[in-house]
Amino acid sequence: MNQDQKSNLPMAPIVDSHGRVHRSLRISVTDRCNIRCFYCMPENVKFLPQDSILNFEEIHRVVQILARQGVSRVRLTGGEPLVRSELWNLVELVKSVPGINEVALTTNGILLSDQAKKLKSSGLDRINVSLDSIDPEKFKEITRRDALDKVLAGIDAAVQAGFDNIRINAVSVKGISETEVIPLVSWAQQQNLHLRFIEFMPLDGDQAWQNQQVFTGARLRSIIEAKFGTLTPVRRGHASQPATDFQLSDGSAPIGFIDSVTEPFCQTCDRMRITAEGKLRNCLFSTQEWDLKDLIRSNASDAQIEERIRLGIQHKKLGHGSDSGRFVRPERAMYQIGG
Ligand code: SAM
Ligand code: SF4
Repeated sequence: MNQDQKSNLPMAPIVDSHGRVHRSLRISVTDRCNIRCFYCMPENVKFLPQDSILNFEEIHRVVQILARQGVSRVRLTGGEPLVRSELWNLVELVKSVPGINEVALTTNGILLSDQAKKLKSSGLDRINVSLDSIDPEKFKEITRRDALDKVLAGIDAAVQAGFDNIRINAVSVKGISETEVIPLVSWAQQQNLHLRFIEFMPLDGDQAWQNQQVFTGARLRSIIEAKFGTLTPVRRGHASQPATDFQLSDGSAPIGFIDSVTEPFCQTCDRMRITAEGKLRNCLFSTQEWDLKDLIRSNASDAQIEERIRLGIQHKKLGHGSDSGRFVRPERAMYQIGG
């Protein structure tokens, strides 16, 4: 049997040295973005040259290799994934890979109005839209751009296109988000959208993050309960899901909390990441990367690429440690990793 025939056989799942099986892949398709959220990207940013970014065929190949090792869920992210030209073609390619059950997208929503229908017909299963405020001025303060109308229109377009499980991700930051919590919850309940609050992580491009800026999930829950009544925990969809979901007694859409800093969920993590320029990362907070692009562009076999991926995952730490005194923050910011 030659190397290529061997690489078509289903192989062992990708397991790290702590026994966690990896089934989920996040692919950053670009580091570029059309806004500048202060918690993610610096205002004056130098993006990667176009030719250093994996093309769709290269991404497709990596997904095929990983799907044969049991990866079944793919999320496309960035930077802003919808600024990548004709992203729906990549969705279609990835969705066609045997073993891939779900293709999802995380987007700021600005370009969704134009693309929602094409994304739906290309087979995209889920959309998460990031939205931290429904107040135009606050939105501008956070994102350094005036684009709230476009995001709201994008969410409408996604609903119209038939996406029925849209989630809204809101990063909450102390000193900024206090005024946004109640309006966001009310709006999400009216729209019947699944809102999730994410704790501010030390991954901002300006490297200005401070522990006291973390608006904790616990604090958010008490603010929401004071206004809307008791939040009852909802059973987890799958063990590795990062959010803990709750429900209000009126039966409206769940409200989730991704308490990455104060209540890390590393024990059940099944995620791996590939950056836009083809580096494997085993964790958002990893300080090490494994280059896949050099292999892909030097005619390496699938088996060699798989071996490097396994090596990277083997090195995954049990916890990210951002809550410990010995934490070393990664050099890359969120937009350079893919959130
Ligand atoms: N541009 C797309 C978007 O905003 O949805 C996809 C990429 S963005 C990096 C992915 C997610 O990371 C977004 O939900 C964003 O709010 C979140 N994010 C970015 N920087 C963060 C930080 N420092 N802490 C917590 N979440 C962050
Ligand atoms: Fe762009 Fe998303 Fe980062 Fe905001 S969070 S700057 S939308 S990549």
